[in-house]
Amino acid sequence: MDIPGTWRAEPGDLMPHQRHYVQPDGLMEFEPFDVDGYFDDIDRMRREFPELGIFTGVEFGQPHLFEAEARALVDLDRFDRINGSLHTLDMGGGRAEPSRLLQEHPAADVMTAYLAEIPVMVAGSDAFDVFTHIDYALRHWPAEEAGPFDPRRFEGLIRHAMRAIADSGRALELNTRRLWSWVPQWWAEEGGRAISFASDAHTPDALAANFPEAVILAETFGFRAGATPADLWRRPRLR
Ligand SMILES: [Zn+2]
Repeated sequence: MDIPGTWRAEPGDLMPHQRHYVQPDGLMEFEPFDVDGYFDDIDRMRREFPELGIFTGVEFGQPHLFEAEARALVDLDRFDRINGSLHTLDMGGGRAEPSRLLQEHPAADVMTAYLAEIPVMVAGSDAFDVFTHIDYALRHWPAEEAGPFDPRRFEGLIRHAMRAIADSGRALELNTRRLWSWVPQWWAEEGGRAISFASDAHTPDALAANFPEAVILAETFGFRAGATPADLWRRPRLR
């Protein structure tokens, strides 16, 4: 759930089926989250597949900025889980996704700005339980110009962001689109106690992709499954 009209883009930044969302003023406009459609579908699925435990959830973009807009759309208390995402930044000229900003600014500056906003987002909203895809800004990392992404170059900022998330008591998502060992390692070292797994699937065939590999990574850094599959994985406190 991102709020329409809150960031700019150019058609070339987007997948072909998304390009018509870019308005003449450069802002992204689209139908807001269909609340009734979502909960109706959940009800239907629960009736059709009673043997499955189906939970509700939403990925909420920029919760530190748009909580009032989100609450005007939907009662956030209806969801079992709310994931908080940082999808856009304002590096001048209005908010935009890293895919756009990486064409306007040096890659290291975009990464730095992204990581620096994470503690601001954490401090600025109580509306989410899990911080998602901490590697979001490097999905479009321009390796040909900037060289391969080296997390050690940003280690201080990454750890600072993780510590802010951990200190707030939230979980970190292990996003399995791309698995990086530094995510669960540094998260555990910075005091992170809980993780969720998310394949970030936008198509059914990608659901739970790379989960076996993610489980091995999580276990390596001390995280353990909860009592039910729906629980966060937790790292027991060391005595
Ligand atoms: Zn996202």
